[in-house]
Amino acid sequence: MLKKFFSYYKPHKRLFIIDFSSAIFVALLDLAFPVAVQWFIDDLLPKGNWGQITTISILLLVVYLLSTFLQYIVSYLGHKLGINIETDMRQQLFNHVQRQSFRFFDNTKTGHIMSRITNDLFDIGELAHHGPEDVFIAIMTLIGAFAIMYSINPELALIAIIMVPFLIILVTFCNIKMNAAWQNMYGKIADVNARVEDSVSGSRVVKSFTNEDFEIARFRIDNGNFRIAKLVAYKVMAWTHSSMFMMTRLVTLIVLVVGAWFTLNDKLSSGELVAFVLFVNVLIKPVDKISALLELYPKGMAGFRRFRELIEQEPEIKDRPDAVAVAHLNGDIIFDDVDFHYDDNKSVLEGINLNIRAGQTVAFVGPSGAGKTTICSLIPRFYDVTEGAISIDGIDIRDMTQHSLRSQIGIVQQDVFLFTGTIKENIGYGKLDAMDDEIISAAKKAHLEDFIASLPYGYETQIGERGLKLSGGQKQRLAIARMFLKNPPILILDEATSALDTETERIIQQSLAELAENRTTLVIAHRLATIRDADRVVVVTENGIAEDGKYDELVKKGGIFARLHNNQFQEV
Ligand code: ADP
Ligand code: MG
Repeated sequence: MLKKFFSYYKPHKRLFIIDFSSAIFVALLDLAFPVAVQWFIDDLLPKGNWGQITTISILLLVVYLLSTFLQYIVSYLGHKLGINIETDMRQQLFNHVQRQSFRFFDNTKTGHIMSRITNDLFDIGELAHHGPEDVFIAIMTLIGAFAIMYSINPELALIAIIMVPFLIILVTFCNIKMNAAWQNMYGKIADVNARVEDSVSGSRVVKSFTNEDFEIARFRIDNGNFRIAKLVAYKVMAWTHSSMFMMTRLVTLIVLVVGAWFTLNDKLSSGELVAFVLFVNVLIKPVDKISALLELYPKGMAGFRRFRELIEQEPEIKDRPDAVAVAHLNGDIIFDDVDFHYDDNKSVLEGINLNIRAGQTVAFVGPSGAGKTTICSLIPRFYDVTEGAISIDGIDIRDMTQHSLRSQIGIVQQDVFLFTGTIKENIGYGKLDAMDDEIISAAKKAHLEDFIASLPYGYETQIGERGLKLSGGQKQRLAIARMFLKNPPILILDEATSALDTETERIIQQSLAELAENRTTLVIAHRLATIRDADRVVVVTENGIAEDGKYDELVKKGGIFARLHNNQFQEV
C-alpha cells in the first residue's frame, strides 16, 4: 500500500526534491544555530573585538534570511506538492466513477463518493505533504541534536533526550483529544445545517401545520448543542496550548538548572549552557512533527485504502477488445431468450423473446415492477443480460463499443435531469458540438420557442438549482429537444409523460409522436390513451411477456390487456 502511495509522487518528483532538500537545509540551520551561539559566547565574546562581532552578526542575519526563505519554500512547495497529489487523486477518482456501470451507482451512496472526494482526499493530501518529509527531517533533527549535545556533555544530553518520548506522548494525546473535539463539533454543525435545510425546503409543510414554534424550539436545541461542542473544542485547544507551553518551559528549566550545576562544577561553559537551552527548542520541532504524524498517518492511510478500494473496482460493463464501433444502426432489435436478474439473484426477466423491426413503435404495458424499465435498460447495455443475447441489426450488442451503441439510443424518462446552467447548455447536452442554429431548430421541433422567447434572457436563461424552475411539461419538452438534437435511430420513452396532468400529457404527446417518426421507438406507457397509435403492444407481467399484438386485436382477444383497457376507460 505504501508503494502505491509513493507512486503518486512520481509526476511531482522535481517538486518533491526541491522541497525535501530545502527542508533538510532548514533542519541543518536549526541545528547550527545553538552551536553558533555557543561559539559566539565562548570564543568571540572574550576577545572583545566589536568589529568582529558586528561582522559575525551580519553573517548571522544573512543566514537567518536564507533560513526564512527556505522555510517559505518548504511551506509553500510542500503544500503545493500535497495539493497536486490530492488533485491528481481526485481527478482519477472522478474519471473512474464516470466510467462505472449502473450497478455501481445502484450500490454506492452519493454521500459515500462525496466523502471520498472531499474528506478522505484532504487527509491523504496532508499526509502526502507531511508524511515522508517530516519523518525524515524529524528523525534527522533528533539524531543530529542529540549527537551535538552528546559531544558537548553526555549526561546533560541524555537528560534532555529522555524527555522527548514523554513530550511526544503528551502532544499526541493532546492532538487526539483535540481532533475528537473538532470532529464532534463538525457533527453538530452538520445537525444545525440539516435543520436549516429541512425547515427551508419543508417550509410549506411547517407553515401548513403552523409548526413554526416547534421548529424554533428544535433549532434552539441543535444550536445549543453546537455551542457546547465548539466550546469544548476551544477548551481542549486552550488546554493543549497551555500544557504544551508549560512542558516546554519545564524542560527548559530542568536543562537550565542541571546545566547550571554542571557549569558551577566547571563541566560546562556558559556558551554550552546557552546552547543546551536553545537545543531544547530545536527538539520541540520534531516532537511536534512526530506527534502530528502519529495522528495523521493512520487517518491518511485509512483514507488512501478506501480511495484505492474505489479505484480498483473495475467497471462491470467493458468494451471487448475487438468491439466494433457501429456507424449507423437501423434499429432491428432482437431479444433472444433473455434472462436477467439484478444483484439479489431474484429473477426479473426469464426467457424473453422479442423481435422489434426497424421503425416500429412498440408499446410496453403492464403492472409496475413487472420489468418494463429493465427490458429497456438492457438495450443500451446499462446492464448485461444474464443469459441469452440482444442484437441490433443482427449484431450482438456486446460486440459493439458502448459509445457507438449508446450514441444511437435516446432515452426520455419521467424525471428529466437538468444540469445547473443555461437553457442552451441543457439542450446542447444532447450533442456537445451542436451549433447554435441546431439547438434553436431542436427547440422549435420540441415546441419550446415561444416559451424560450418569453424568458428574460432567452436561451441564456439559467435553470436548475439556482435558476428558473421549469414545470414538468417544460422539462419534458427540453428533454425532447435534447433528443431531436441527438437524433438517435432508436428511441425509448419510459413513462415520459406519466407525471404530467392529462391535458399537458396530451400536448406533449404530439411532440413525442413527431420525435418518434422514422425511429424504432419503445414506449412504456401508463395511460393507454397515449399508445393508441402504436404499431404493437407488448404486455409484460411478472411471468414475462403475456400478450403481444395490435392494440385493437388485444382488446378483442379479451385477455389481460383487454382488462387493463376496460378498467382505464371506465374510470375516466
Ligand atoms: P417496471 O418498469 O415494469 O415497473 P422495473 O423494470 O423497474 O419494473 O423493475 C422490475 C423489478 O426489478 C422490480 O422487482 C424491481 O424492484 C427490480 N429492480 C428494478 N431496478 C432495480 C435495481 N437497480 N436493482 C435491483 N432491483 C431492481
Ligand atoms: Mg418502470
